[in-house]
This record gives sequence, structure tokens and C-alpha cells, in this order.
Amino acid sequence: MQEQVEKIAEWIVTSKRVVVFVGAGLSTESGIPDFRSPGGVWDKYDPEDFYFQKFMASEASREKYWQMATEMYEPMKRAQPNSAHLVIAEMEKLGKLDCIITQNIDGLHLKAGNSPDKIIELHGTAMSVSCMRCWQRYDRDEIQEQIRKGIKVPYCDDCGGPLKPSTISFGQAMPERETEEAYHRSSTSDLFIVIGSSLVVHPAASMPLVAKRNGAKLVIINRDPTPCDDIADVVIHGQAGPTMTAILNQVKKGLRDCRF
Ligand SMILES: [Zn+2]
Repeated sequence: MQEQVEKIAEWIVTSKRVVVFVGAGLSTESGIPDFRSPGGVWDKYDPEDFYFQKFMASEASREKYWQMATEMYEPMKRAQPNSAHLVIAEMEKLGKLDCIITQNIDGLHLKAGNSPDKIIELHGTAMSVSCMRCWQRYDRDEIQEQIRKGIKVPYCDDCGGPLKPSTISFGQAMPERETEEAYHRSSTSDLFIVIGSSLVVHPAASMPLVAKRNGAKLVIINRDPTPCDDIADVVIHGQAGPTMTAILNQVKKGLRDCRF
């Protein structure tokens, strides 16, 4: 693995636009359950009940949604960035990060110290709540406090519209601006690093292909094989935290020695 680590470090040092693409595997290393895994929240609740259209259609659906969302939020709020998040924050400090494209909704890159303008959240964020009528945003904790006090479905102070966590629900369109920006950054990157994503959820999974087609080197760091392993320049099957820490050490060494 040392050889691959050195290769990736060399590319980080010599590349101009490094895009990091992350998925659920990064969050699980911070103790956040992968909600799609066995034993996850979707074993207990039926995803069919949480389609966006149902949420908009009935008070009973909204109540059920908030019950599930509150349960999912608790472990997320407690979670702390792991060493891979910290390495990605360090890459920004070193001037070695164009942006992070994330499929996660846990806000951990912000907690780790990355700037908001470096983070593209493809599936939204659980850290805030949006009005589904006027798009006014609220802090998630404020709304959770209302729920704790017994309010079953929160509504907008301004317009009375229903509030929902600012995440992309089943049946809800992907955010246009973020998706476009993510494709744009993928196509202009010269090094595209996938961390902790199984690359099966579309359209996100096509971004490594876009990057590769436009000449970027493609690196995949994931516990299990992915459908893009065949076209990647380097693949490491392992945990994100220790792998990224080893890579950062080499990057720092490279920058210090001007070896590359
Ligand atoms: Zn509103």
C-alpha cells in the first residue's frame, strides 16, 4: 500500500485542481450509521412513507417524517469529524483542495474546518431546516427544540408553510445549482479522489467518469470494490481515516522536500 500512498501524495502535490468526492463510508467512520445498511433506519421505517410528495400531501405523513428525521438527527448531531475529515480540512489549508463534493448530510466537513464555499452538498444538509413554500431557512437545533417541547410538525414563522430538514428526500429533485457545480468541478479537475463511496447512487456516481473522461487522474479509496475500480488510476481498499492520514504525511514531506 505504501507505493500507492506515495503515488497519490505525489499527484496531490503536483495537481492544480484536486476534487475530493465523499460518500457514506466517511460518515460511518465517525459513528454515523449508514441508513441504507441492514439494521439502519430503513429497516424500521418504510421508505415509501417518506416520499416528498407524501410529505407535501398530508399532515400525518409530515408527523411520521419528523419522527424518523428526529431519530436520524441525534447520532448525527453527536458525531465528530474523523481523521479523514481532518486531512481534507488540512488539504484546504495547504492550498491543495479545489472542492469537496459530498453525498453526506451530516455537516462534518464544516465541523472539521473546511470553508462553506469549498463544500458542495449534493443531498442537502441535515443541519438546517427549510420552508417548503418560501424556502426560508432555520437552524436545525431550534426546530428540534420545538419538537422536544411536543410540537409534532413545525411550520414557517413567515408564511406558515411546512418545514422539512434541508436534505433531498426520496422523490425530490436534486438541487440544480449544486449538481451543475459538481459536474463542472468534476470536468475541470486534474485529480479526482473518491473517499468512502460505493459509487452506486446516481447521478453522483457518474462524476468520477466525467472527471476521468476530461483527463483527470482518478483515485478510489473505499472499503469495498466499486463499479469504477477498473478505470481508476489507483485503488485502495481500506479505511478512509488511516489511509488519508498516511497520504497527508507523504504530501507534507513532498511539499517540504520539493521532491515532486
Ligand atoms: Zn415560509
